Amino acid sequence: MLKNKIIKLLVGTNNNGKLKEIKDLLPKNLAIYCPYDFKIKSPTENGKTFKENSLIKAKFFSKKSKMICLSDDSGLEIDILDGNPGIYSARWGGKKGDFKKAMNRVFKELDKKDKNWRQKKIKARFVCALTIYDRNKQIINSIGKVEGCISPIIKGKNGFGYDPIFIPLGKKITFGEMRASQKYKIDHRFKAFKKIKKFF
Ligand code: IMP
Repeated sequence: MLKNKIIKLLVGTNNNGKLKEIKDLLPKNLAIYCPYDFKIKSPTENGKTFKENSLIKAKFFSKKSKMICLSDDSGLEIDILDGNPGIYSARWGGKKGDFKKAMNRVFKELDKKDKNWRQKKIKARFVCALTIYDRNKQIINSIGKVEGCISPIIKGKNGFGYDPIFIPLGKKITFGEMRASQKYKIDHRFKAFKKIKKFF
């Protein structure tokens, strides 16, 4: 465990959407860096779970940068697709990380499963695993989830990734239609972050 609060941190992601969200959660007086600042490319994510992949990233970036690293592995699980895209969420966007392509792949896979899926409630959730790693040791790992369903159409221009097709439970609009401040208060990343907040 850490004796002192973290004052300098590498946020282990090369995904700009995620980086922005994580920065917004962290205290403003923290010195925040990202792998791009040190020209560090992302490692291969060959873990089988969000937790394993977030540890792979945190360990890799921390060792390369010699800094404490906070990394996130997250994605969208859709029940009738057996939890896919899950840990493959980024990969469904192809090499260029094309989110439109990823959302259309979701629609295509749902069409294959059930032609009438648009008339039904397609249960899904965003999951986020966060890991703090200090060079030689993992400090902590936490998981956050937000339940919801898949929108029959792509709606909204805010956020990133699958935000325009995810409607959180109890709401009528997608994450893509919400203001950032509205999404941050209920999402998977916020829930995972709440559990490790005390380290900052
Ligand atoms: P990775 O954790 O970098 O491997 O990728 C996670 C992928 O999951 C992102 O590229 C997005 O496609 C998706 N994702 C994770 N969190 C969110 C979110 O808050 N909104 C929308 N998509 C997300």
